[in-house]
Amino acid sequence: MTRSISVLGATGSVGVSTLDLIRRNRADWRVVALTAHSNVEELAKLAREFDADLAVIAQDNLLGALRDALDGSGIEAAAGRGALCEASARSADIVMAAIVGCAGLGPVMAAIEQGTTVALANKEALVSAGEVMTAAVEKHGATLLPVDSEHNAIFQCLRGGKLAEVRTITLTASGGPLRTWSKAQLDEATPAQAIAHPNWDMGAKISVDSATMFNKGLELIEAHHLFPVGLDKIRIVVHPQSVIHSMVEYRDGSTLAQLGPSDMRVPIASCLAYPARMDTPMDPLDLAAIGELTFHAPDEKRFPATRLAREAAQAGGAAPGTLNAANEVAVAAFLAGNIPFSRIALMVERVLTETELPPAPQTLEEVLRVDEDARRRASAMLETC
Ligand code: NDP
Repeated sequence: MTRSISVLGATGSVGVSTLDLIRRNRADWRVVALTAHSNVEELAKLAREFDADLAVIAQDNLLGALRDALDGSGIEAAAGRGALCEASARSADIVMAAIVGCAGLGPVMAAIEQGTTVALANKEALVSAGEVMTAAVEKHGATLLPVDSEHNAIFQCLRGGKLAEVRTITLTASGGPLRTWSKAQLDEATPAQAIAHPNWDMGAKISVDSATMFNKGLELIEAHHLFPVGLDKIRIVVHPQSVIHSMVEYRDGSTLAQLGPSDMRVPIASCLAYPARMDTPMDPLDLAAIGELTFHAPDEKRFPATRLAREAAQAGGAAPGTLNAANEVAVAAFLAGNIPFSRIALMVERVLTETELPPAPQTLEEVLRVDEDARRRASAMLETC
């Protein structure tokens, strides 16, 4: 039976991996909407290839260019943030949420409000909205399928037992490309070095997040919302080979782990086919060739991000959204060459601690206000740096 899908962030790393799987199973899928931020050319190319009903570019001023690029195709073109939400709310069996950053929150909520199945890669949306999003999922009968490889692993391991029987959840972390660097070396890390991830090929923002360990911090908060076992039961272990994607330990001492190649098409396929399975082009896992799996505790002195995220999750309210927004501003500044690598965590900590946070957000509008407020404070801090 043909299923329908919309891909938000179709031109990005997760978007392209999703469309690769759709391409390999073309007859099974109808593409409703594809979206991008500014890459008109690639968006139009994909929309034509997949015969999408609709293509949306986030930047308003690129509507004319998108229309030109789709001329004669019969594909509808639209632009702007409102159009992203409308695309996301269009009837589809599944929406792949793969926009990067809190910019994806509005579209994710629009899909949730339709009661749709949302494959969630866009972790920043859940970190920022927290209970506002989980309450909306409940209210509208939507389904969230975790795309993040760690959360997808946990989701799969939880099929072997009940949440109430969980003793601990362990998120694995590769440690990123700068894992073994000294504090002094970290001060000198360049954007090119920070995004050169040893195991995963990802977009620039999440690659920097992996290098700072903010990615794991965001994932800790994401896990706290997706699998409500209590923060004290969620742990992080550094596992440089990225073969075990995460683990669940049950009350009887059994630990279930999910293993696989470091290729996002595996967790994406698990979401697309859920609750069944589908083929992917991966080679079988060859543990003898891998040889060794190693583990160690995170070093929160060199990489304070996981501590900051845990504290923000414990504080709740506006803290996780503030942490996320400050991190987005700091990562953009680092990528632009405006601040050194180690200033990212420092800036996030200062935004969280040096001023009073707004009250806990109760609605999407309030979540977006927390995000704006934190961005304003982080940007002001950049000016004075
Ligand atoms: P990329 O940077 O590769 O792609 C981001 C996508 O979002 C692009 O299509 C981009 O369009 C679009 N986009 C960027 N900014 C905006 C905006 N302001 N409004 C609307 N659209 C926007 O990111 P990734 O694919 O790496 O990551 C996407 C999400 O998935 C992130 O939240 C990340 O944390 C998460 N994730 C990613 C993994 C990975 O392996 N890459 C693994 C696990 C989670 P354009 O191309 O036009 O700029």
